[in-house]
Amino acid sequence: MAAVTGPALSAYRLTEEQVLLRDTIRQLADERIAPRAAEIDHSAEFPHDIKALLADHEVLALPFPEVHGGVGADLLTVCVAIEQIARACVTSSLILAVQALGSDPLLRKGTPEQQARWIPDLAAGRKLIAFGLTEPEAGSDVAAIRTRAVREGEDYVLNGTKRFITHGSVAGLITVFAVTSPEASRRRRLSCFIAEVPTPGFAVTKLEHKMGIRGSPTAELAFDGVRVPAANRIGEEGDGFDLAMATFEHSRPGIAAQAVGLAQGALEFATAYARERRQFGQRIGDFQMVSALLADMDAQVEAARALTYHACAEIAAGSAAAARWASLCKLVAGDAAMRVTTDAVQVLGGYGYIDEFPVERMMRDAKITQLYEGTQQIQRLVIARALLGRGG
Ligand SMILES: Cc1cc2nc3c(=O)[nH]c(=O)nc-3n(C[C@H](O)[C@H](O)[C@H](O)COP(=O)(O)OP(=O)(O)OC[C@H]3O[C@@H](n4cnc5c(N)ncnc54)[C@H](O)[C@@H]3O)c2cc1C
Repeated sequence: MAAVTGPALSAYRLTEEQVLLRDTIRQLADERIAPRAAEIDHSAEFPHDIKALLADHEVLALPFPEVHGGVGADLLTVCVAIEQIARACVTSSLILAVQALGSDPLLRKGTPEQQARWIPDLAAGRKLIAFGLTEPEAGSDVAAIRTRAVREGEDYVLNGTKRFITHGSVAGLITVFAVTSPEASRRRRLSCFIAEVPTPGFAVTKLEHKMGIRGSPTAELAFDGVRVPAANRIGEEGDGFDLAMATFEHSRPGIAAQAVGLAQGALEFATAYARERRQFGQRIGDFQMVSALLADMDAQVEAARALTYHACAEIAAGSAAAARWASLCKLVAGDAAMRVTTDAVQVLGGYGYIDEFPVERMMRDAKITQLYEGTQQIQRLVIARALLGRGG
């Protein structure tokens, strides 16, 4: 018990380099991304220009090792970058977040040859990579995946359908999880592959129409006899489930950071509005009920940020409770983002509800942080399991 919930192993404090990076990305986001955010939401089109901007400024290179053209940033630094982009536009922050998510198995378990083959393109932003785990029948229950990978000579042949795959329609690489041993235990049924697309048998069969993050394409993908070389398997046969779970230890803090940035953006906008808008002859911010709302929003943002940064430090330090830290920060930050953005709409009154102002978009965008990379219920399961152990 003490090992799981006892005193933290490490403290975090942003280094000078991280502060510089944070401020640089914040400025880039204010000047170049924020002005595009409403248009990206309205058009629901993937912002290729923002992808190019992030690539040009080496933001997409952050998660990758220097030897392959990356920056070699640690988890906290990547999360600080995601936070600053999300403060302006959540859709745009997903470009970095999903680049890190999709490549996590490759970075963890890829051979030197595999890494040398794919990472330079990913670090330079020449290619995007998607993370293909979810299926129509396998959402929260990852082990229920049905997509099959059958070995045929030097290839595996993949058949199945993936659902809700972010960037599935714009990525050149898809990290796909498929069943290689149907009779094995839940933990050993899956393997992980990198599919290079387009390729015969692969098709994007649907793009979802969504409540929020509307410029981020969410694709249904069909694999109909897709041949993937055995050399594209990441790790050993049967490693897929553990690889997916380990990936979440890095990617959930990224979603928490996205939620923190989003909430920060909503707080800043609502605060500025409360200074300007006058009713009954005074600033609305001077009504106690409005000022208390803003104070609570500030407290929630700071608490979520502190936990997220702390979780990053714990995970990077090799905490044995990494899964718990990842779930704790995603749970707290996702809920904070939903509440803070909803309250930001309240501060603006009727003006919060119309698209002349960004807070209605922020509120719609916030909801996804409670759903993807494991719903808030699944985060609670992970945390409770760390506290209680598995039931007998
Ligand atoms: C916009 C978007 C982008 C996404 N991007 C990706 C991506 O890039 N790659 C990818 O692989 N997936 C992606 N997903 C999938 C996402 O991770 C899943 O939607 C999510 O894990 C939930 O699965 P589900 O939708 O099937 O819901 P279900 O698993 O059907 O859950 C329905 C409800 O039941 C609850 N529930 C389920 N199991 C339990 C349980 N054991 N205990 C308590 N409650 C439970 C859930 O919390 C939820 O409230 C994306 C989804 C969306 C909407």
